[in-house]
Formats: sequence, C-alpha cells, structure tokens
Amino acid sequence: MEKALKKLLMISVLADNILTNLPKRMLGTRYKITGKCKKCGQCCREIYLKASRTQITNPLFSKLSVKWIEWLFDFKLKWVDLEDNYFVFECKNLRPDGTCGNYFWRPNICRNYPLVDYFDEPVFLPGCGYGSELRKTG
Ligand code: SF4
Ligand code: SF4
Repeated sequence: MEKALKKLLMISVLADNILTNLPKRMLGTRYKITGKCKKCGQCCREIYLKASRTQITNPLFSKLSVKWIEWLFDFKLKWVDLEDNYFVFECKNLRPDGTCGNYFWRPNICRNYPLVDYFDEPVFLPGCGYGSELRKTG
C-alpha cells in the first residue's frame, strides 16, 4: 500500500518535471552538457536541497520537510547547512558500484542533474564527468 502510494506520487512528480522541462527543450538553453557520468556516486552522497532562511529556521517546517523527503525519495538527512540554507541528504538507493538502485523511480533532482538553466553556466560537483559548452548559434 505504502509503495503504491509512493509510486502514485512519483508519477505526478514525473509529470510535473516533463512539463517544467518542455519549454527548455523547445526554446533551447545557452549551454549544453558534454561528457558523461563516471558513476562516482558523489551526487547521490551529498544532495543539496535549497530552502529559504524562513523555512530552514522553522523547526516544524524543517521537521516535516525532512520527513517527507526521506519517505518519498528514500533519502537520509546528513546535515543542515544553516549558512547557505540547504538540507543535505544522502540516498539509500546508491549501490556500492555507484549505480542507482531505483533508476526508473528516481526523483527529479536526479533526473535533472546536471541542471541546465536557460542562461546560466551549469555547475558541477568536483570530479563529475559532465561538463558544459556554449551552444553554437547561427
Ligand atoms: S557526480 Fe557526476 S560523474 Fe559522479 S555519479 Fe554524479 S553525475 Fe555521475
Ligand atoms: S535515486 Fe538514484 S540517482 Fe537519485 S540519488 Fe538515489 S541513487 Fe542517486
């Protein structure tokens, strides 16, 4: 029952991701991704989720958000970065060989990494196999 509920929620999360990324695909982005994943697992060991200052310092919001994310995504809170306002998680689905144990149902943050914005240069974790380059225009 719990698994079915999780999958139902993940389907709506996935649909939301498709709709969010559609304009990006249609309009194009300034940078494109190059390289490939080296399966180092770094992005699954330290997952930074941004919050606002008000959210992160509110004990009730913090507690509920962390519980929700841990349950829905199989993440586990590592620490809270109060300086830059991030919840930092690790993922229970990371396999010892660096591959994902829940690939089909992985959260959007995993689907969208490396994140490509419309104009900003993408940012990568140190040692990541991906890079980026400006798209050729004209
Ligand atoms: S940090 Fe980069 S190379 Fe390492 S697992 Fe993540 S995407 Fe792949
Ligand atoms: S769901 Fe898969 S890709 Fe996402 S953090 Fe976990 S192991 Fe990594």
